[in-house]
Amino acid sequence: MRTYKTLETSLVHAGTPHPRIEGAVSSPIFCSVNYESKGEASYHELGYLRLSRSPNHLELHQKLCTIEKGEAALVTASGMAAISTALMSQLRPGDHILVQEGLYGGTYTFLTEDLNKWGVRCSFVDGNRPETWKAQRQDNTKLFYLEAVGNPLTRVSALAEAVEFCKQEKLLSIIDSTFVSPVNFQPLEFGFDLVVHSATKYLNGHSDVLAGALVGSAASIEKALHLQVHLGATLDPHACFLLNRGLKTLALRVRQQNASALALARALEAHPGVDRVYYPGLESHPDHSRARKLFKGFGGVLSFETNRNLEALTAGLSLAIVAPSLGGVETLVCCPAQTSHLGMTPAQRQEIGIADNLLRVSVGIEDKDELIEDFLEAISRA
Ligand SMILES: *Cc1c(COP(=O)(O)O)cnc(C)c1O
Repeated sequence: MRTYKTLETSLVHAGTPHPRIEGAVSSPIFCSVNYESKGEASYHELGYLRLSRSPNHLELHQKLCTIEKGEAALVTASGMAAISTALMSQLRPGDHILVQEGLYGGTYTFLTEDLNKWGVRCSFVDGNRPETWKAQRQDNTKLFYLEAVGNPLTRVSALAEAVEFCKQEKLLSIIDSTFVSPVNFQPLEFGFDLVVHSATKYLNGHSDVLAGALVGSAASIEKALHLQVHLGATLDPHACFLLNRGLKTLALRVRQQNASALALARALEAHPGVDRVYYPGLESHPDHSRARKLFKGFGGVLSFETNRNLEALTAGLSLAIVAPSLGGVETLVCCPAQTSHLGMTPAQRQEIGIADNLLRVSVGIEDKDELIEDFLEAISRA
């Protein structure tokens, strides 16, 4: 397997088979569900698509290993499949885990409803207060699960302390790195054991594929693969092809999004129609200095509270699209109180700092000045 010196080059070339298949510069899609037997000795070596070993899977796994600096990788049918597979493959009934507060809603519900039903208990801890973690650790605690950047207030947990804590306490550390992508942060190199992604977001980047990814040690990916083969959340080869194509431009997209989000955050902060902006790249953000130390860029997601009419504001946007999700080339806006946090009462939302007038923006790759103009005009008119 050829190796490359930089992330940029690896994104384009890593994983490409040599010699190229029929010389194809862009690897073809292998639609075949099954492959002719070569005398495989075990079930897990069979040439069957659910085992995630098509040429499209292998190319993608190799690319993901290279860019996240892991020993092995596995793609899954969604981000939630990556998260549930990672957790279930490492845990058994009776285990306890530590989890950072303020998780992505799907993960939160999976932990508190589904995993709980299978006998795994979790304790939620404040990711910004490492001194409180030890008190929550139990004899049966197996792992600590965190997110690189919290949604939607973009809080950044004490990640260095989390790695250190897990080493001391002999816990497995798992991080959801969806919001930052390997362009801004490489968790495995930093000391985390396992990284999970909703590849639906930045890794693919074009709002046209649902996918997930796990990267880590060969042993932990082997465990995850064994479970995935039975759960069946295998990524389709066509989706593999699209994800591989999306990854080729990841560095270009994310750098542009880092720069545009920072410029938009600054412009919003200066507008009288905006009360508060949450973006780790702003000096006013509570975790700014930590984010500066940890990350190469501050990402493409920001949130802001407006004192103008929310409906009029979103209706007045002509470039930004009101839609859930993030990480694509199109700028998206959503109101957490009406989408991801709708299940909570206003009082519960207030307790975790999510105001009803909060809007989350996922900055795309449109021209930054045009984007700023779109937001400032919509706010002024609202
Ligand atoms: C979207 C998202 C997920 C879930 O990913 P899907 O691809 O929608 O299953 C998990 N974690 C984070 C941080 C996300 O943004």
